[in-house]
Amino acid sequence: MSVRPRGRKAAARDLATATRAPRRTRLAPPAERAKVVLRRLKRRFPDARCALDHEDAYQLLVATILSAQCTDARVNMVTPELFARYPGPAELARAMPSDVEEMIRSTGFFRNKTRSLIGMAQAVVADHGGEVPRTMERLRVLPGVGRKTANVVLGNAYGINEGITVDTHVARVSRRLGLTDQEDPVKIERNLMPLFPRKEWALLSHLLIFHGRQICLARRPRCGECPLSDLCPSAAL
Ligand code: SF4
Repeated sequence: MSVRPRGRKAAARDLATATRAPRRTRLAPPAERAKVVLRRLKRRFPDARCALDHEDAYQLLVATILSAQCTDARVNMVTPELFARYPGPAELARAMPSDVEEMIRSTGFFRNKTRSLIGMAQAVVADHGGEVPRTMERLRVLPGVGRKTANVVLGNAYGINEGITVDTHVARVSRRLGLTDQEDPVKIERNLMPLFPRKEWALLSHLLIFHGRQICLARRPRCGECPLSDLCPSAAL
C-alpha cells in the first residue's frame, strides 16, 4: 500500500492537536510552538505596535532612553514639549541640563537620563553628522544606549531586524511559554532568535509586550482567557 506524502495542512492539524493534548505531557517542541504563538498573537493583537510616540529615529531614541523604569504613557506625556524645544540632536546637544531635567523630571532618574540624552545628542552630532546611526555597533556606544534600546530603534525606526527587544514582559512571557529558561535578557534574546523568522522580530516584541500587559500579567496571568493556554507549560486553568 502506498503512503501519500502529508501536506502542510495535515502537519498543522497535527501540531494543533498535539498542542491541545494534556499539558506538560505532549507539548510540541519550542520551535513548533513558536510558529503557533506568533500566528495566534498576530490574530489576537492586530494593532500591536511600538507604544512610544515618535516620528523619526531621533525621537524614538530619546523616548526609549526616557522609558527606563517608566511607563510608555508617562514618556508620551513628556516628549511633545521636549521635541518641540529640541527638534533634533543639534538642539539637544546644546541644551542646558537644568532645562532638560525640569522637562523630564516626572519620568524618574531624571539627572541620569538628562546626562544620557545630552551625551547621546552630542555624540550623534560629533560622530555621525547629526544622523542617528543604523547599526547595532554604532548605536551601542552612544551614552545611555544598550542593546535593548538599539534593538528598539533599529527595528521600529529603520525596519532593521538586528535582534529582539527583550523587556520585562517579553522575558516573563517567553519563560512562561517555555521558549527560554534564561533570566538574562541577552541570553533570552539568543534563545528566541532561532525560533522566529527574522522579519518578524520587531513585531514579535510588540506582540509579547501586548500579551504581557493584557493577558499574561506578572502577578495574575489570565490563563482562562489566553489564546496560548493549550501550548503553555505554565498555564493554570
Ligand atoms: S497560559 Fe497563562 S501563563 Fe501561559 S502564556 Fe497564557 S496567560 Fe501566560
